[in-house]
Amino acid sequence: MQKKCFSLILFALLWALLLGACFPAGAEVTVDVLSGDVPFLVNKDHPVEAEFVPADLVSLKENVNPKLVTLKYKDLTAVREAVDALNEMLDAAAADGIKNWKINAAYRSIREQERVLNNKISAILKDHPGWSRSKARTRALNTVAEPCCSEHHLGLAIDITAKGASAFKGTKQCKWLHAHCWEYGFIIRYQEGKQAITGIAAEEWHIRYVGVEHALIMRDKDLCLEEYLATLPNAEAVGRMEIEDFNPEDPEDE
Ligand SMILES: [Zn+2]
Repeated sequence: MQKKCFSLILFALLWALLLGACFPAGAEVTVDVLSGDVPFLVNKDHPVEAEFVPADLVSLKENVNPKLVTLKYKDLTAVREAVDALNEMLDAAAADGIKNWKINAAYRSIREQERVLNNKISAILKDHPGWSRSKARTRALNTVAEPCCSEHHLGLAIDITAKGASAFKGTKQCKWLHAHCWEYGFIIRYQEGKQAITGIAAEEWHIRYVGVEHALIMRDKDLCLEEYLATLPNAEAVGRMEIEDFNPEDPEDE
C-alpha cells in the first residue's frame, strides 16, 4: 500500500515537472517605456506583451503634494519621470490659482485590466441573463479596453479630474489642463474629433506623458498620437500605422 502511494506521488511530481517545463509561469518583462526616440504606442492594434511591466514605477502617495491633489486609491503608481512632470504641472497650476485635483487612475497592470473587464462582463450578464458570455464580452469591450491594449499599462497615463466635481468637462481645472498640460510633456490623448483615429471617445481627463518636445508639436499641429507617429520616419519600431486602417465604429473607453 505504501509503495503504491509512493508511486502515485512520484507520478504526480513527474507530471508537475513536465507541465512546468511546457508552460512556465509568465516571467515579468520590465520595459523602459521612455527609452525610444518616439513615444510608445499602445492601442487595440498595438497591444503590449502579457508579461509587460514598465520600469521605474513609483508611488503617487509618496511623491505628490497632498495639498494639491487627492488620490482615489492609496496604491496608485506611475513612472517616475511622468510623476515629476505631473508635480511640476500641478505646482504651475497652483501658481495660477488652480488646485483641488483628483487622480482616479494611473498605472494599471494587465491582471488588473482583466479583472476590470471580467467585472464588466459579469455586470452585463446580470442585466441580460439570456446573453452568451461572448455577446456580453463584446458589449463590455465598448467601454473597457482589452487587457494588454490599455494605455494605462505604460505607467505614463493618468486620469485626472477636479475634486468634488460631478463632471470634469467645463471645470476650471479642465480648462487649465487642456491649455497647459503640453508645456509639461503631457497630451490630451483622446480628443473630440480624433475618435475615428484613436478608436476611443473623447476623454478630457486622460493625460499621457510623452515629453515636452513631442507634446508641443502635437499641440501645435493638432495631431493625436497615432497621427503624429505616422509622420515620423523612425516610428516603425513602436508600431507606425496606416491611418486608413482604423475602424471608426465601436468607440472604446480606455
Ligand atoms: Zn485613462
